[in-house]
Amino acid sequence: MAEPFEQDIKFLTGVGPKRAELLNKELQVFTFGDLITYYPYKYIDRSKFYTTREVRSNQAYIQIKGKISNFRFEGGRSGRRLVADFHDNEGHIDIIWFHGIKWIKESIKPEKTYIVFGKPSIFQGKVNLIHPEIEDLQLHESKISTSLQALYTTSEKLKKNYINSRIIQKLQHNLLKILKGKIPETLPAYFVKELNLISREQALINAHFPDNPDILSKATFRLKFEELFYIQLRLLKQKEARKTKFQGFVFSKVGKHLNDFYKIHLRFDLTEAQKRVIKEIRRDLGSGKQMNRLLQGDVGSGKTLVALMTMLIALDNDYQTCIMAPTEILAFQHFKTISGFLEGLNINIRLLTGSTKKSERDIIHEELQNGKLQFLIGTHALIEETVMFHNLGLVIIDEQHRFGVAQRGQLWKKNIRPPHVLVMTATPIPRTLAMTLYGDLDVSVIDEMPPGRKPIKTLHFFDSQRNRVFGFMRKQIEAGQQIFIVYPLIKESEKMDYKDLEDGYISITRAFPPPKYAVSVVHGKMKPQEKEISMQHFLAGRTHIMVATTVIEVGVDIRNASVMIIESAERFGLSQLHQLRGRVGRGSDQSYCLLMSTEKLSSEAIKRIETIVRTNDGFEIAEADLKLRGPGDLEGIQQSGIAFTLKIANLAQDGQILQYARNMAEKILENDPDLSNPENQIFVKQLKSQKNNRTNWSGIS
Ligand code: ADP
Ligand code: MG
Repeated sequence: MAEPFEQDIKFLTGVGPKRAELLNKELQVFTFGDLITYYPYKYIDRSKFYTTREVRSNQAYIQIKGKISNFRFEGGRSGRRLVADFHDNEGHIDIIWFHGIKWIKESIKPEKTYIVFGKPSIFQGKVNLIHPEIEDLQLHESKISTSLQALYTTSEKLKKNYINSRIIQKLQHNLLKILKGKIPETLPAYFVKELNLISREQALINAHFPDNPDILSKATFRLKFEELFYIQLRLLKQKEARKTKFQGFVFSKVGKHLNDFYKIHLRFDLTEAQKRVIKEIRRDLGSGKQMNRLLQGDVGSGKTLVALMTMLIALDNDYQTCIMAPTEILAFQHFKTISGFLEGLNINIRLLTGSTKKSERDIIHEELQNGKLQFLIGTHALIEETVMFHNLGLVIIDEQHRFGVAQRGQLWKKNIRPPHVLVMTATPIPRTLAMTLYGDLDVSVIDEMPPGRKPIKTLHFFDSQRNRVFGFMRKQIEAGQQIFIVYPLIKESEKMDYKDLEDGYISITRAFPPPKYAVSVVHGKMKPQEKEISMQHFLAGRTHIMVATTVIEVGVDIRNASVMIIESAERFGLSQLHQLRGRVGRGSDQSYCLLMSTEKLSSEAIKRIETIVRTNDGFEIAEADLKLRGPGDLEGIQQSGIAFTLKIANLAQDGQILQYARNMAEKILENDPDLSNPENQIFVKQLKSQKNNRTNWSGIS
């Protein structure tokens, strides 16, 4: 028997070539298997029937039982509509149709009892139902009767072609008739039993046609668990495989470079968290296995320093290191920060980005190959074929949610043995995301800020309160502080944004006129040199205020700047606000972040602003961001493709199931690391078939 799940959807009763094409295009449903895993987005309780007297315009979906009669046409030529009375024992309400009128009038029989289902609305002052779903009572009872009705997402195009949620439900019904009894189990029997799961078949049936809320929750649990479990099993297996397959360079020496730096150059003590993380890293580097570690920590927690010390260990063992950053600005910033730390240490460090000049590039290529170049910092340019290392021992990747796992893998190709890999994220990411996006890595967390920092005070002002803000700024400047003012920059409306920035700049220079005050400006349209000069002025303390677009988000570390003013704060995402705020508070003075916004705020924007005002904890903010936006909207998730792969689980909501799935996957691999037990063969088969799936897993290499 051909795998029923592989059957082309066009062969399903009720589909055919035309509908198949629509399902392919609009829902990416190609096969029976695709349809059965096209899950409802919600369920509505259809056990309750209302009477016409109970219908109110503010109700969600309702259903009523009764007869339909007294058809009449109302409205003029342009707004012609069909109206009928719907009546039960208690009274009647109007049903209204605007299209498909002829067909409706012919198909509804006055003597029959119908179930009418829809969302009440008000039309011309009267409560009524517009285009409700109508079903013959007898048919309803004999057919797909279920107290919880599944609702499926459709598209405008599908609806136009009469494929609505109800039709999809009918297709699921037809499909289950065929598949019933033939749905293969995808987890080993012993596992299903041990975890007290329901069978895959029961789960699929009840996901679409739940008998009751209890079985529905069992069904969705089983399906979500399975989905997340296989992702975790795959990631953990990769992690395991890498550890056994690849030998890592052994960095056994702690030599002169690290010692000199630590004892002589570093002017402060490491935090306990930094010490702990460096220990974890050193354990990896000496283990003989390849390190694959994620370094998480809030903005300003001192990740760069940890990275640098790791680089010095590599250097002490005669290996080269490269740092790959997602943008030129960030690469440049790392280059500057690290060069700054290394001043006087005679270490050869260079920067390679898309805009590196040919002459410099040639030197880099040469010195990389003959081993003279010790640290190379750059962007994607590092992955280019022409970049060849003498002996690359360590790769540090600053991800900022931007590189995928695939790109990480590319740097490996440069060596016979894979270098050690340390991945840093610019902002904390929620645990569920970390487990999924970086599930194949070990994790180190810096959960402590360097001492002496006062928590940044965050306040929210409306644009109308600007004078107060100006007053505050003057006081700060008098006290010798510098101020950032940041304007949003969104690609789609660049022109408008620059206007905002220009207007802002003009009004700032008016409120803070020379010669008493000096204002710098930096934005993406300036030439790099101009930007640099402007930045330098501010850095050197020659200007009091820096007006900028978000280009400074990842850039500068200016200790004397203690005020960050974010204009149109409502237009920023939570993690971006947190990033920007992290630009101040680096010194020992009290710092402030002022969020400016209009008074017309969406409820989402209010939540974002409240969150950022309430807490400085990057991990908490990341969790809130995930909850507010949903996983699909987070950058890293989008690029990883995982959001598109997940059909039922939701990383924002199913954290507990995810943790459980990971624990179970760990347990399986603990007992059977290479999955060779006969009873575990089903896992192997599943992992393989998922790989061959159209769903693209190539990012998880
Ligand atoms: P991150 O990369 O995590 O945002 P950085 O490594 O850039 O943080 O560190 C932020 C600032 O704190 C830098 O100016 C750095 O020199 C300083 N710093 C780092 N670690 C310490 C420490 N242990 N004590 C004092 N200052 C530190
Ligand atoms: Mg940093």
